[in-house]
Amino acid sequence: MCVCVCVLESRTDLQTGSVMSPLHSFLFLSLFLTPSSQLEFRYHNNREMEQYLTELSAASPDITHLYSIGQSVRGQELWVLALGRSPHRHSVGIPEFKYVANMHGNEVLGRVLMLQLIDDLVRGYRNNEEWSVKLLNSTRIHILPTMNPDGFDESDTDCLFSQGRGNYNGVDLNRNFPDAFAGLRKQPQIDEGKREAEVRAVIGWLRMESFVLSANLHGGALVASYPYDNSNGGSELVGGASISPDDDVFNHLAKVYSHNHASMHRGDQCRDSSPFLEGVTNGYLWYPITGGMQDYNYVWAQCLELTLEISCCKFPPENQLPALWTENRKSLLAFILQVHLGVKGRVFNGSGVPVQNAVVEVRGRSNMCPFRTDKHGEYYRLLLPGNYTFTVTYPSHKVLKETLNVPHGPDQYSAMKHDFMLRQIPATTVSTQANPTNANSTQANLTPGCNYTSVLDAGASRNSWTGLVVGLGLVVVLL
Ligand SMILES: [Zn+2]
Repeated sequence: MCVCVCVLESRTDLQTGSVMSPLHSFLFLSLFLTPSSQLEFRYHNNREMEQYLTELSAASPDITHLYSIGQSVRGQELWVLALGRSPHRHSVGIPEFKYVANMHGNEVLGRVLMLQLIDDLVRGYRNNEEWSVKLLNSTRIHILPTMNPDGFDESDTDCLFSQGRGNYNGVDLNRNFPDAFAGLRKQPQIDEGKREAEVRAVIGWLRMESFVLSANLHGGALVASYPYDNSNGGSELVGGASISPDDDVFNHLAKVYSHNHASMHRGDQCRDSSPFLEGVTNGYLWYPITGGMQDYNYVWAQCLELTLEISCCKFPPENQLPALWTENRKSLLAFILQVHLGVKGRVFNGSGVPVQNAVVEVRGRSNMCPFRTDKHGEYYRLLLPGNYTFTVTYPSHKVLKETLNVPHGPDQYSAMKHDFMLRQIPATTVSTQANPTNANSTQANLTPGCNYTSVLDAGASRNSWTGLVVGLGLVVVLL
């Protein structure tokens, strides 16, 4: 009875945007946080999910941090829970990972699995279980359980129909991102005024954090799909696939998910679905899309992202949720661990100071937008074990080339650490300095989108504001 009352009243709260009362919070505490039991397997509505995340983050402030990246069209917060030893801020050497679920409002298993994953990680850490402690000590994990809460509210519980797929404006969010290939073809990009609120929020999020690896979770098929999703009809088109410079890494990442999944690797588990060799596919080869999120992550945010289709049925019956969690749990954890592939480190200038925007390139991988160091002077480069020649370019400094032997990082919960120490060019010869934007002559013509700027809301200030509201709410709860 209490549960019903809470749900009904909380929906009223949703309309007014008011903070939940202490009484409601107490009832939800008893609903979610019974210490010994696992989170219930069912579809929590948006308000219940928000409350669960709020209470969980209040109970575990040492390893979790709840923040909002913005609001949906109807004003629902897009909550992200960050987990890790330093959940509030980036630590040098600790890679940023993210999962995004429920981008299509009617593809709902992902949001259930994300809450279960959060529950599992936190309980594992509290119980001092090695798998969780090692993961959270080495990685900062951001989870956005729903990117499309408005679509979820509208969705049908059907396995196939697409009611609720789009956001409140009926727009498919996975077609609404800036598209590198559309830019290359000089096709008109989406007018910034038509960029949906949820997409603007994610773009702003990618600018706040330097994510290294990511996946977005969908339903309606059982396959791990990887970039590119689009093509310019150029040299990237190989045998019907649109191949990225990091195709070997993407193929590995997809197979990590499919082979750790109970059945995805068999590749033929859904009726009326094409067979997928080993349960993986190049996105374009499956079907081309323009304005997808994974290409945007990869091309513009140097974050390698996969699209994971994790259930044949878009809205599975609740009684199937425990089994579906069991089928996906190992894959979800193994995929996060892949953030420790390759090499990581910082680039220091001639004075020994870490520098932003140094271009760090790997021979044979001409990324459309060259990978650059972030505001901490850090770079992360996911690579399979092997020998790689790096070229580091920064204004007024000599171009640095080094060959590194890269081991398998996930076994160690850390990529290989390697800093690059640049040497300044004497002032008299600076006129011949390297220009990072022209580090690779083939890229100069291929990077019109790298300077892409989008009109964004003042994301940072709103996040602070939202954090304050959450903080005040927690004080009320705790009192
Ligand atoms: Zn989808």
